[in-house]
Amino acid sequence: MKRGFLNGNKVKQRALYPLPSPNANSNSNISTNANADRDGANINSQMRYTKSEAHKTDHSPASIVFTTIPPRPDPDGQSEWIALGDAKKRVLGVPGYPRALPSMDGESVAYEVRDAGAHEKGMGLGVFATRDIDAGALIFAERPLLVIPVNSGRLATSDSNIENTLAIAVGRMRAGSRDAFMQLANCHNDEGPLLGIVRTNGWIVRELSDEGEGTDKAYTAICKIAARINHSCMPNIHARFDLASFAFYIRAARGIKAGEQLFHSYCSVNLPLTARRAALAPYAFTCACHACTHASPTSDTLRREFATRVEAYRRMSDAWVGKKASKKVDEGVVRELEEFRKELVSEGLDGTRTYGVMLSAILRLYMNSGRIGEARVLVEEMRQRQRLEG
Ligand SMILES: [Zn+2]
Repeated sequence: MKRGFLNGNKVKQRALYPLPSPNANSNSNISTNANADRDGANINSQMRYTKSEAHKTDHSPASIVFTTIPPRPDPDGQSEWIALGDAKKRVLGVPGYPRALPSMDGESVAYEVRDAGAHEKGMGLGVFATRDIDAGALIFAERPLLVIPVNSGRLATSDSNIENTLAIAVGRMRAGSRDAFMQLANCHNDEGPLLGIVRTNGWIVRELSDEGEGTDKAYTAICKIAARINHSCMPNIHARFDLASFAFYIRAARGIKAGEQLFHSYCSVNLPLTARRAALAPYAFTCACHACTHASPTSDTLRREFATRVEAYRRMSDAWVGKKASKKVDEGVVRELEEFRKELVSEGLDGTRTYGVMLSAILRLYMNSGRIGEARVLVEEMRQRQRLEG
């Protein structure tokens, strides 16, 4: 899961920050913020602010729609959502919407937010496991505080800039959510305070996008807890957005020990060191994870090529079992795959989906060569990881 924002059209006019109204009524899908009451005002020949009824889905494509998901106060929290296209229609039509967040089945809370600075220099707050967590297990599910188009430039209009549009959505939040939002880190002080928070903390929601080509149709979400998960090029969590519950599900991508910090990667893990540094530059920190401090030409090559190599093994593995199975695979191939697997683990790439594909190729190899014991152990590991897809 990458962090998500696009710079889009730069704000021409420096934002004069309007404080969110403390009296904003977030129970209603109709904003009471004065700025949002310009229903029908001609904003820039195209875009209009639109009062949104909770269940209305046939908005004009030229509308900036402020809506609250789900519309009524909910124990799992509510998200303020600025929807520009047809994504609202899809979410409201998803079977099961609005689904409650999963209960943790009586299990103790598995995480805590605390200062990571003392442990990992320069990280500020971080999220830590409070108990051992199995690979694939749910750590928490969270409904975002705010969801906006990933291309925030789409929120700018001729008589209002991005910051003002964000202020309307933030003003609609309940007080607790608004406080949590305003307390999030901002490493983009050159932007308006709200856009800075969005750019620092936004997670791209690939599962949520308007129809049409291009990544700028996607949305980005700002969460209270998930936003505190720090970056590592050796991520140990997996995030998936569930449309029916309008929430991120954060699971352990591999076994996590009590006290370990949770990490996800703000950039692609397939990049060599210099490209990762460039991709992380907007976040104003230099990653000091083990993979970065021990990077070498070999690890750079591994990262650049591991997805292609895994795909090649996956294709080869079709011939190792089943109807297409040919003769027994050479011992050298078994050693080669096991060695490759160890390299992926040591580089911290065992939290990726690609690694899961690698495991299925190895399983076929074990079955081909009659290694039943090894196959059983692998099946158990794969069974746990299967929850990452659910
Ligand atoms: Zn790193």
